Amino acid sequence: MLKQKEKIELKGMTLQQMKDYFSSIGEKPFRGEQVFNWLFNHLEFEYDNMLNLPKELRERLKTSTSLISLDLFDYQDSPSTKTKKYLFRTYDDKVIESVVIPEKERNTLCISTQVGCPLDCKFCATGLMGYKRNLSAGEIVDQYLLAAKEYGKKFITNIVYMGMGEPLLNFKNTLDSIKIFTNELNTGLSRNRITISTAGIPPKIKELADNDIRIKLALSLHSCFDDIRNKIMPINIKYPLKENFDALRYYAKKTKTRITFEYTMLKEINDRSEDIKALTHLCKQIPSKLNLIPFNSIKHMDPDGFSGQLEPTAANLIEEFANQLRDNGITVFVRNTQGDDIAAACGQLAIKAS
Ligand code: SAH
Repeated sequence: MLKQKEKIELKGMTLQQMKDYFSSIGEKPFRGEQVFNWLFNHLEFEYDNMLNLPKELRERLKTSTSLISLDLFDYQDSPSTKTKKYLFRTYDDKVIESVVIPEKERNTLCISTQVGCPLDCKFCATGLMGYKRNLSAGEIVDQYLLAAKEYGKKFITNIVYMGMGEPLLNFKNTLDSIKIFTNELNTGLSRNRITISTAGIPPKIKELADNDIRIKLALSLHSCFDDIRNKIMPINIKYPLKENFDALRYYAKKTKTRITFEYTMLKEINDRSEDIKALTHLCKQIPSKLNLIPFNSIKHMDPDGFSGQLEPTAANLIEEFANQLRDNGITVFVRNTQGDDIAAACGQLAIKAS
């Protein structure tokens, strides 16, 4: 059973914060570097095994700090693919999920940044469960550390912030977690292997660009028309497309990266010929690529409501849609859905309120 809120969470500290912490307790900053190295290079989470620390210091750390941010209590394997969903419990008895998606050339870990999500996107199961709280930086990072420990450090090559929650609404903790993943001592993840996905919070997109983090950024676009996007993603009422596009242009320029547009294909909502035209125009305006995502139905969660009525575009029509965009010179990928048999695919992460 996890319960250590009252202790200082070391797994959520950046290298600099770790050094500062050790200075603040009267130790040399290099002790912080040693602990950081144990955690992120050796995946060692027991003070007793950190043998280059004096025993007296280890005892002190045990009483005031914690190296347990999450409890990995269960996982589910997908019988049809190698996707694996991890279930973690937090100190306050909330449950969050991450997903490991093995592919030919890379193994991606999809992590959560919030318990639930406040955005209420109509196609997303996490949105339907509502919002509970932000995750701490330690809770974000521990999803990676515990999964890496299971598989071996080299196994996870990519991290995507595409689990539960809106990363840019938990800005500071998300940013700290990125600094930890791309730290100066090197945990093995480079910036171009980390992607943040956002529903579109323009001031925060700009702030991320100004932080010189230079990771990849994806916008969950789903429609190029404000009236449609307002209906399926209510956050668009506050932050309409133009503001997002301006922020993305700024991000792409400042970081010299291409933006990824994610586009979940909803029958008769965003798969029409005018959508092809609008997408073509957009993708020529902003350095980008486009990922078409087959919609995973969430009818079971809302049988009579708007969400329950959304339907997927048929697979052959998605291919046709993609080909027409390619003919227009757009870089398009059709994502294959992995893990929907264990509710681990895009937008299916949701835990019943405990
Ligand atoms: N809040 C962030 C992070 C979640 S990412 C964001 O909105 O980007 C999850 C991705 O899966 C997003 O692109 C989301 O739009 C997409 N998605 C959500 N529900 C889905 C569903 N039922 N089927 C397919 N894709 C879905």
